[in-house]
Amino acid sequence: MLDITTTRGLSEEQRLMRQTCRAFVDDVVTPFIRQNWQREWDMNPDARLPPEILAGADQIGIRTLGVPEEFGGVELDPRNEVRTFALISEEIARGDSGLADKLVQNWKVSVLLRNLAPRHLQEKWFKRLVDDPQFLLAHGLTEPRGASDRWLPYNVPEAAMQTRAARTSGGWVINGRKQFLSNGYDAGLYVVYANTKLGVGMLQGTSSFLVPRETKGLTVARCNETMGCRFMNNGEIVFEDMFVPDDHLLVENDALGKAGVYFRPGKIIQASKNLGVGVHAFEAAAHYVQNYVQGGRILLKHQAVALRIADMATRIEAVRALLERAAQAVDDNAPDADTLCNMVKLFASEEILKVAQHCLELHGGNGVMLDFGVEKIFRDAAIFLHMDATVDISKMKIVKSMFPETAGKYAGPE
Ligand SMILES: Cc1cc2nc3c(=O)[nH]c(=O)nc-3n(C[C@H](O)[C@H](O)[C@H](O)COP(=O)(O)OP(=O)(O)OC[C@H]3O[C@@H](n4cnc5c(N)ncnc54)[C@H](O)[C@@H]3O)c2cc1C
Repeated sequence: MLDITTTRGLSEEQRLMRQTCRAFVDDVVTPFIRQNWQREWDMNPDARLPPEILAGADQIGIRTLGVPEEFGGVELDPRNEVRTFALISEEIARGDSGLADKLVQNWKVSVLLRNLAPRHLQEKWFKRLVDDPQFLLAHGLTEPRGASDRWLPYNVPEAAMQTRAARTSGGWVINGRKQFLSNGYDAGLYVVYANTKLGVGMLQGTSSFLVPRETKGLTVARCNETMGCRFMNNGEIVFEDMFVPDDHLLVENDALGKAGVYFRPGKIIQASKNLGVGVHAFEAAAHYVQNYVQGGRILLKHQAVALRIADMATRIEAVRALLERAAQAVDDNAPDADTLCNMVKLFASEEILKVAQHCLELHGGNGVMLDFGVEKIFRDAAIFLHMDATVDISKMKIVKSMFPETAGKYAGPE
C-alpha cells in the first residue's frame, strides 16, 4: 500500500531524525494546534506561539541545523545536508508550517553566515543562537517597491534597491526599509541587502550586512497579519541613519551573486515545507473520508470522493519526486541545480494548493469552520505562491536559465 510520506534511500541518521521529528509533531505540535486553534488569531504577536514549542524543537536538536559543530550546532553530513533539511522541514510543516518557517530561517541564515561572516562574528552570533531557544534569524531583501526585480534580476540601475548604504569612517550608514521578512518582527539578527554603488546593475552594486536587532537606527515597524503560516511573525523593519561597523559587511557589491548558498537550499526547504502541508491535507482528508458517512456509506465509497483522493496522492508523489531530484542536485552542486530549485518551488506551490482545495471541499461545511482546523491547511498552502518569488517570476527564472541569451531580457531599451 502507498505510504504518502515515504522517502527512499534514507541514511540511518536521517531515519532517526525523521522519527524524532515525527514524534515531536504528533505528541506536541499537533495537539497544541488542535487545542489552541484561536491562538494564531491573537493580535499580540508575542503571545501566539508559547516558548515551550521552540524549546521543544531545541531539545530534539533541530533548531540549530546548519550551525557548525565547533560553535555548538548540529552539523549534518555535507553529502546530503540539503536532503536532510528537506526531510525535517517537511515533518515540521506537517504539524505547522508557521513553526517550520520560524525554524528554517535559522538554518538558511546559518548556512549564509558560516560561508560569509568573519570568524569572530560567527563565534558571537552562533553562540547567541545556540544558547537561546527563542533566538531567531531573518534575511531582508524585499522592499516596498517590490521584490520581483531582485529575483529575475533585471540588472539595470532603475531596478536597484532603494535601501542604501554609504561608506563612512569605520563602517557604513544605512537608510531604507525592508518588508515581508520571515521572522522580521522578532529576529535577534538580520542579514540586510543594500545598494552600495549607484548607477550600476544590482548584481554589481548590492552589498549585504549583518545587523543586530539592537542597532541604533533600526526600528521594527510592524508585524504583518498574514492569512496563513501565522505562527511565524512576518515583519517590516526601517533603517534611519543606522551605523554598522566595517566587519559587519558580509559581501561588498556582488552580494546577490554570492547569496546562492542561501537561495538554493532555501527553495528546496520552501518546497519541502509546502509538501508537509500537502501531507497534512492528505492525512486529514483520508481520515475524514474513511469515517464520515453520507448516503449510508463512508465518503470514500463514493466514486467522486475516491477520485479526489487519488488526485491528491498523485500530486503529492509528483512533488516529492521532483523535490528529491532537485535536492540531490543541490547536494551534488550540479549545474542544473538552480533551474530545478525554481521548478520544484513553483510546482509545489501550485500542486499543494490544489491538494489543500480537495481537502477543504471533501470536508464540506466542516472544511470552512475555524474550530474544525482544516481551513488552516488551505490558508497555509496559499502563502507558498508568494514566498521566495511569485509563480510567474519563478517561471521566468526557469526559462531564463535554459535560454540565457534570449529569454528574460529586460523589456526596456537595449
Ligand atoms: C509569508 C512571506 C514570507 C516572506 N519572507 C521573506 C523574507 O524572509 N525575506 C525577504 O526578503 N522577502 C520575503 N518575502 C517576500 C517575497 O519574496 C515577495 O513577496 C515575493 O518575491 C514577491 O514580491 P512582491 O511581494 O514585492 O511582489 P511584486 O514584485 O510587487 O510583484 C507583484 C506582481 O507582479 C508580478 N510581476 C512583477 N514583476 C514582473 C515582471 N517583470 N513580469 C511579470 N510579472 C511581474 C509578480 O509576479 C506579482 O504577481 C516573503 C513573502 C511572504 C508572503
